[in-house]
Amino acid sequence: MFVLKYDRFESDRMPHPIAIDLRFLPHLVPMKKLVDGLHQFQTSYFSSHQTLFEQLAQGQKPRVLFITCSDSRIDPNLITNAQVGELFVIRNAGNMIPPFGATDGGEGATLEYAIQALGIEQIIVCGHSFCGAMKGLLKLNQLQEEMPLVYDWLKHAEATRRMLKENYSQLEGEPLLDIAIAENVLTQIENLRTYPVVRAKLGQGRLHLHAWVYHIESGEVLEYDPIRHAYVPPDGRIEISSPQDRSLQPQSFYPTKSTWLPVEQSERIYRGSH
Ligand SMILES: [Zn+2]
Repeated sequence: MFVLKYDRFESDRMPHPIAIDLRFLPHLVPMKKLVDGLHQFQTSYFSSHQTLFEQLAQGQKPRVLFITCSDSRIDPNLITNAQVGELFVIRNAGNMIPPFGATDGGEGATLEYAIQALGIEQIIVCGHSFCGAMKGLLKLNQLQEEMPLVYDWLKHAEATRRMLKENYSQLEGEPLLDIAIAENVLTQIENLRTYPVVRAKLGQGRLHLHAWVYHIESGEVLEYDPIRHAYVPPDGRIEISSPQDRSLQPQSFYPTKSTWLPVEQSERIYRGSH
């Protein structure tokens, strides 16, 4: 146990755990669940993977930087079946990377550390279906008063908003949101390219950028293929070459419609006929 010199939470002191009767303190239920979870982790997962954790204590060697949304419904390690120590992660509302020089936020520093210090050569930007940040982008005017910080943050998706306005004005509702999510991942890939450290490594062929969208409802992940101009199941080899002139086909990234096959073939397969 560590005893610190100053008490910085005088006004918010928690009762001693033994004294808690959750019937009278329902707001503590979520914390109780987490604390129980900590005990469970320590007695089961940790004890059966102790060697791994001892190795990790010596240092980390993640091979992938995974940039995704803060949304609770996406878990990078879970959806990629990655072990602890394998993914270096940046999370924020809307899986954003502000362009180089736009802010002094943690994203640029974390990115630089990932590439320079950890030698990471694979970066994934992963958006997800039903993204609240992208919903906000679609009704930006209403946000300014209610959530001014979110409003400011969403300026890093301004290229997405313009792309939607100029290329998808015929869409609304869920199809428009789906396009916003898919386009925003590509906007953030473009933002990544503004960083000198990224440009230098890309030029040497020592960095690879991947644009993913995770579908909460199906568990499926699709990757942007710049050659086919569509989101398709990832094959682990596709790299984004040129994000310019890249407006998507509205139907091109729905996971239930096979877009990597000719339309007739795909429809046949999904109808189950010959
Ligand atoms: Zn989100």
